[in-house]
This record gives sequence, structure tokens and C-alpha cells, in this order.
Amino acid sequence: MHKVVAIDGPAGSGKGTVAKLIAQKLNLTYIDTGAMYRAVAYATLKNNIVIDDKEAIVALARNCEIDFKDSKTYLNGEDVSHEIRTMEVTKIVSQISSIVELRELLVEQQREMGSKTDVVMEGRDITTVVFPDANYKFYLDASVESRALRRFKENQEKGIESSYDEILENIKKRDYNDMHKEVGSLTRTEDAVYIDSTDLTIDEVVNKMIEVIEV
Ligand code: C5P
Repeated sequence: MHKVVAIDGPAGSGKGTVAKLIAQKLNLTYIDTGAMYRAVAYATLKNNIVIDDKEAIVALARNCEIDFKDSKTYLNGEDVSHEIRTMEVTKIVSQISSIVELRELLVEQQREMGSKTDVVMEGRDITTVVFPDANYKFYLDASVESRALRRFKENQEKGIESSYDEILENIKKRDYNDMHKEVGSLTRTEDAVYIDSTDLTIDEVVNKMIEVIEV
């Protein structure tokens, strides 16, 4: 059995940043499941599929090969790391990720990734659906305003155009959608270690997690 560190939490809670650092420190493979839903959302836009056409989106997803290599996300061999972070994709991704058959498909791929090697996997349903029996489970939270501000700064650094207000609105909407999904909705469970990162630095969050993992 491979080691699985599972991290869930709302958009902008810092899951990606801390998961990457934990992966480096503990020599685990980092898997960003949000990037997988984003890659399908990007492919949907690129193929001009309307976002209500669930069947077409699931069929498209069956032909999407999503890989991670050197911190980059590849869709059918093409590096889409930048494209999947645009506001256009961000706006539609939570609606797309509510398609039950799409979730089944991606959850299966995620379980397979976790069965091949030791992983740190982050998303919304990792501690509840993908790996409910993970060795270590965390729920990372932060106030909605601080999450929006982090995303805004992150976008600025990456040269992605966005406004704070637009991000705040988008995060509130995504929180609502992500917590009210028919399947795989974001839920905080009692057996996941809860960390509120609003007033913590990234290093403080990482250290707290490593303390739990290394006990
Ligand atoms: O983590 P990130 O914000 O990049 O995820 C983008 C979107 O993908 C989320 O808003 C959520 O709707 C969806 N998602 C999901 N299940 C996961 C990871 C992400 O539904 N495990």
C-alpha cells in the first residue's frame, strides 16, 4: 500500500502551495486534482461545447489524457498549465465538475495515480471519496477575503489579468457550488485534521502538517 496524504479545502485555501512543499520535503508525487477538472473545462471551451451538454463533456473527457510532469499539466501531450488558470476556465469549472459521470471518470484516474506511487493529492473530495482511508487527511481553510486576496496576488505574479472583486465573487460562487454538489461535494469530516490558515504563513501550515505526518 502506497502512502497517501489527502488534502481538501475551498478555493484559495493554499492547498496547492502547501501540497507542493510537502511533496518536495517528503519525496511524494504531487497531484493537483483541480487541474484535472480545469483541463476538461479548458477542452470544453476549446471544442466549443456548451456547458449544459453533459454527455458531450463526458465523451470529450474520455478522450482527454491528463498528465503531470515537472509541475506542469499536460492535456493530450500539450502543456496547458497557463491556459487552465484563466478566468474563463475558472468561471465554468465548478459547474463542469458537478457532472457526476465526469467525477466518476476522474476519481478512477486519481485512485490509479495513488495506487502507483506515494502521493500528496489535493482537491475537494480526496478525504471523503477518492481516498477516504488515506494515511493522513487534512482540511485546509481560510477566510473568504484572505483566499481571494491570495488568488489575486498569485494571478498578478503569474501575469494573469484579474480584479480582486471579480475573484472574490467567483470564489464565493465556487464555494457554494463546491459545497452543494450531488456527488463529491466539499465536506469537512471529523477525521481530517482541520487547519485554518488565515493568520498562518505557508511555512507554519507546512510545519503543522509535517508534525502530524511524521509522528
Ligand atoms: O483546486 P482548484 O480551485 O483549482 O479546482 C478548480 C475546481 O475544480 C473547483 O472549484 C471544484 O469545482 C473542482 N474540483 C472538484 N473536485 C476536486 C478538485 C477540484 O470538484 N477534487
